[in-house]
Amino acid sequence: MHLARFPRLFVAHLPTPLERLDRLSAHLGGPEIWIKRDDCTGLSTGGNKTRKLEFLMAEAQADRADLVMTQGATQSNHARQTAAFAAKLGMACHLLLEDRTGSRERDYTRNGNVLLDHLHGATTEMRPGGLDMNAEMEAVADRFRAQGRRVYTIPGGGSNPTGALGYVNCAFELVGQANDRGLAIDRIVTATGSAGTQAGLVAGLRAIHAGIPVTGFGVRAPKDRQEESVFALASATAEKLGCPGAVRRADVEADCTYVGAGYGIPRDDTIEAIRLFAELEGILLDPVYSGKAAAGLIDYCRKGRFGRGELIVFLHTGGAAALFGYESVLSGNGGRAAAE
Ligand SMILES: *Cc1c(COP(=O)(O)O)cnc(C)c1O
Repeated sequence: MHLARFPRLFVAHLPTPLERLDRLSAHLGGPEIWIKRDDCTGLSTGGNKTRKLEFLMAEAQADRADLVMTQGATQSNHARQTAAFAAKLGMACHLLLEDRTGSRERDYTRNGNVLLDHLHGATTEMRPGGLDMNAEMEAVADRFRAQGRRVYTIPGGGSNPTGALGYVNCAFELVGQANDRGLAIDRIVTATGSAGTQAGLVAGLRAIHAGIPVTGFGVRAPKDRQEESVFALASATAEKLGCPGAVRRADVEADCTYVGAGYGIPRDDTIEAIRLFAELEGILLDPVYSGKAAAGLIDYCRKGRFGRGELIVFLHTGGAAALFGYESVLSGNGGRAAAE
């Protein structure tokens, strides 16, 4: 398979760094933990959606779209990266944002990613939680089309086979970096939500027979549903790549026990993970995705579920812009008081 056959706009800062987390590894005393810095993809504070948008926005441009639409939660990182990408291409951007958490905190509804959406010139429209958001988006898109606009719609999280190519690319990039440095990776761990990240990784790794398993830590759906959606998308992505059947059901593994009360609601171990990465490594996680995945990683280390000396790569998918939507949980009771 040959990724250069697919239209792509080269916007992300790639390759993202692959770094060893010395202090976190020592603190946990188990495996050797490395981090793949997809929080550093460069576009509007970075994150995993930029890799997907390189392929999606190339399609939008080929369609001669003048308006791009997508949807996500209020503090969607995907919406923010789409708004920034559209700005760079001179396209209008309209975002449908779903109130999934019910938070009425002003920083959640106005700061963080929402502030950045608007800075990039996107328009936004809210929806209550629980609707079929892709259907809502298509209805609004038809309204714009009736006014003569050429609309390109991107599904939530940019997760379709085109977007997942961004994580096929990441799989190739990571394996290349590991080969160049003589690092034998035992496992990759990542957050998994709309499934494109894990699906693209699994399809890419299988396509090159890398033999590296991936654990996805869920942020919303229960395990069975999450694994089914990752498997379906990984299979469709493999087919698009020209290797149909390359992904087996057993290649898809999700652990959804660190979700807590629901999407976008951090648990105590989410906050602890954010603090550990911040204080030991100077790295910012987020309260919705990477903080929950890191909580899973830390718990697995403490429970001895990775072998001592195994090499684990934590894929950092970004999201730190959302920290500014969560001031009350991050600096409230659990906040460290300054020395008096
Ligand atoms: C979207 C997102 C994810 C999840 O990626 P999917 O491809 O939707 O599964 C993980 N982390 C962050 C920070 C995200 O914004």
